[in-house]
Amino acid sequence: MLIVMKSGATESEIEKVLATIDALGFRGHALPGENRTAIGVTGNKGSVDPAHFENLPGVANAIRVTQPYKLISKDLRPEKSVIKVGTGTIGGSELAMIAGPCAIESREQLFSAAEAVAKSGAKFFRGGAYKPRTSPYAFQGMGEDGLKFLAEVRDQYGLNIVTEAMDERGIDAVEKYGDCIQIGARNMQNFSLLKYAGKTRKPVLLKRGLSATLDEFLLAAEYIMAEGNYDVILCERGIRTFANHARNTIDLSIVPAVHRLTHLPIIVDPSHGTGHNYMVTPLARAGVAVGADGLIIEVHPKPEEALCDGAQALTLDQYLELVKQVQRIHEVTNESALALAG
Ligand code: PEP
Ligand code: MN
Repeated sequence: MLIVMKSGATESEIEKVLATIDALGFRGHALPGENRTAIGVTGNKGSVDPAHFENLPGVANAIRVTQPYKLISKDLRPEKSVIKVGTGTIGGSELAMIAGPCAIESREQLFSAAEAVAKSGAKFFRGGAYKPRTSPYAFQGMGEDGLKFLAEVRDQYGLNIVTEAMDERGIDAVEKYGDCIQIGARNMQNFSLLKYAGKTRKPVLLKRGLSATLDEFLLAAEYIMAEGNYDVILCERGIRTFANHARNTIDLSIVPAVHRLTHLPIIVDPSHGTGHNYMVTPLARAGVAVGADGLIIEVHPKPEEALCDGAQALTLDQYLELVKQVQRIHEVTNESALALAG
């Protein structure tokens, strides 16, 4: 059920609708938009009778939802969501750049990457303290000590911190030190983790699972939102296919598909999407050209010495060059989208 309020509906009229939903034993999610507020209803097993809401003051319409997702849907919020991440935003007219090393390895490595990322004009810095590695014998990350270095980076450079949590304890730690909780591809369907992230008040960067369909990806976002956290950013990071010339097959067609169905922003990760240094910049350009709201890029001051994902890391100079190229493409993409809309 989706309840669309009239454009002039008052706070108390919205409250009255939420209280009615509550009294029925369901949960109401009010999402204010540019012109009107819409309220999504979750927690109902069967369909809800629109008659409960139709005649309440301020209600324009009560609509039954037939899709499996409710809160991510454009029916709830027709315009795009602009997600606040620390002092920056993702999903607005600016291209969001998130860059940094795969893993935090030392204070020196982190600060050297952060200096270049800050110089490039990026607002967001990445770096993993908890690393999901295929082998239990591979470097697992610096843990909380790494998060403390990230917090120092934020203080020194004003960069907003995006970092992965693999479990509930990790979410608590990222909430304390970071600005955005990354949920990695391998955890995209860790439903208890998604629910836990949904109870926090930090934005969540949700990466697409290695074999997730569009529906599965969107329903994972829906899990987070159903708990009351509406600040979700999606990320395409490549999927498993038979192709073996790249680490993953980056599926850029999901960007317009996501924009068609949901108000949530989507960014592209050409680092994990390709796994090869020489492919990162071309696929970053392509991601921006298909309308991604941002990019997440792995950079390392010395890729050859990286403890994790060195083959796909850009040098700091390569990253600065990438930024120049994608900014130009972003301007052209925005101009042509505006011209088409006008
Ligand atoms: C990462 O961002 O370093 C990472 C582990 O990503 P993914 O979950 O997409 O593999
Ligand atoms: Mn990585």
